[in-house]
Amino acid sequence: MDQGKNPFQIAQRQLDEAAKVLKLDPAVHELLRWPMREFHVRIPVRMDDGSVKVFEGFRVQYNDARGPTKGGIRFHPEETFDTVRALAAWMAWKTAVVDLPLGGGKGGVVCNPKEMSAGELERLSRGYIRALGHYIGPDIDVPAPDVYTNPQIMAWMMDEYEKIVGHSAPGVITGKPLPLGGSAGRGDATARGGIHTVREAAKVLGLDLQGAPAAIQGYGNAGQFAHKLATEILGMKVVAVSDSKGGIYNPAGLLFEDVLTHKQRLGSVVGFPGAQEISNADLLELDVMVLFPAALENVITEENAHRIKAKIVAELANGPTTPEADVILHEQGVYVIPDFLCNAGGVTVSYFEQVQNAYNFYWSEEEVHRLLDKKMTTAFQAVHEAAQRHRVHPRLGAYVVAVSRVAEAMRLRGWV
Ligand code: GLU
Repeated sequence: MDQGKNPFQIAQRQLDEAAKVLKLDPAVHELLRWPMREFHVRIPVRMDDGSVKVFEGFRVQYNDARGPTKGGIRFHPEETFDTVRALAAWMAWKTAVVDLPLGGGKGGVVCNPKEMSAGELERLSRGYIRALGHYIGPDIDVPAPDVYTNPQIMAWMMDEYEKIVGHSAPGVITGKPLPLGGSAGRGDATARGGIHTVREAAKVLGLDLQGAPAAIQGYGNAGQFAHKLATEILGMKVVAVSDSKGGIYNPAGLLFEDVLTHKQRLGSVVGFPGAQEISNADLLELDVMVLFPAALENVITEENAHRIKAKIVAELANGPTTPEADVILHEQGVYVIPDFLCNAGGVTVSYFEQVQNAYNFYWSEEEVHRLLDKKMTTAFQAVHEAAQRHRVHPRLGAYVVAVSRVAEAMRLRGWV
């Protein structure tokens, strides 16, 4: 991997910047630069053709000073240990920035789910939990969905965990289907929380979002719901969307229901009638009010940052912008809503799911939406205020808020 783009080195560099601003105690800084605990496992899976394939899996428990570690599991062919470490660090900052009583963790399996049958995916999911079941739990470490994992995978994982411990334990994992203890409002929570932060950013920047153009890179859970909710909640006009196969652009706007149907039918947004084709790279440079990177890491770099024309970059993906690009965007006056603030809606509703599992009593969707909006709005305001106070870009502002909360918890525990 190009070391300049190694996500864990990027996460460490971001922390180092924040440590300077905060004049962080060296011992606190050193502890926060590395995961507290990590697991590397091999998972044998019986494939449909009768052979056994061995998969590589990771789980990183980054920091649990504020509570049990929390974070998704990615199934991705290019997964690396360092990517999972970075994502786990960002989870620690994410739970802190929205002030949840949780730490940060992340998991991953090197696999290509697009080439696996449902049976193979189920056996892999159960194998992951057999390998790690003794090291996770509602009060230890709580996984959730992420790139290419979904509620069905969470259901298999919960079931396997309950078989191991011998009792019901829905709080071991979040993002479950509703009949198995999932929360209302978890499905679109990442995008919805991001939309709330865009609304707040537009207020402080004095921008009118009504009818303004938006572009979305990535059409998974976050990207799809961003399309729906940017239209429904903000009244924006989504002019371009893309997925791993390419993008589509129509200056008159793209209708969510039609694009989703097309994607469900053909497996990609590409070929959507009435739209021009556009590459993932060109989509990022469109003249729009809000750009939503909602796919993978390192898409906005020093090579293309100076060509970004959006007023707001709302990072629904984790790690889409490199540190060099952050500086360029800030100098150009582009307001970046940093990933671990912008996409914190997912883990926030995951936390609500855990609370409901513990109570064994479930809330209405309206209640979840109300509480999510409150959390996201409060977090946005804290970050914006910290960035203004320290005269730094919003990502550094978010780090200042999150790192000081984790550091305080470590101090109170007497670790440092
Ligand atoms: N995978 C999501 C994230 O990166 C959600 C994590 C969770 O719900 O625990 O924030």
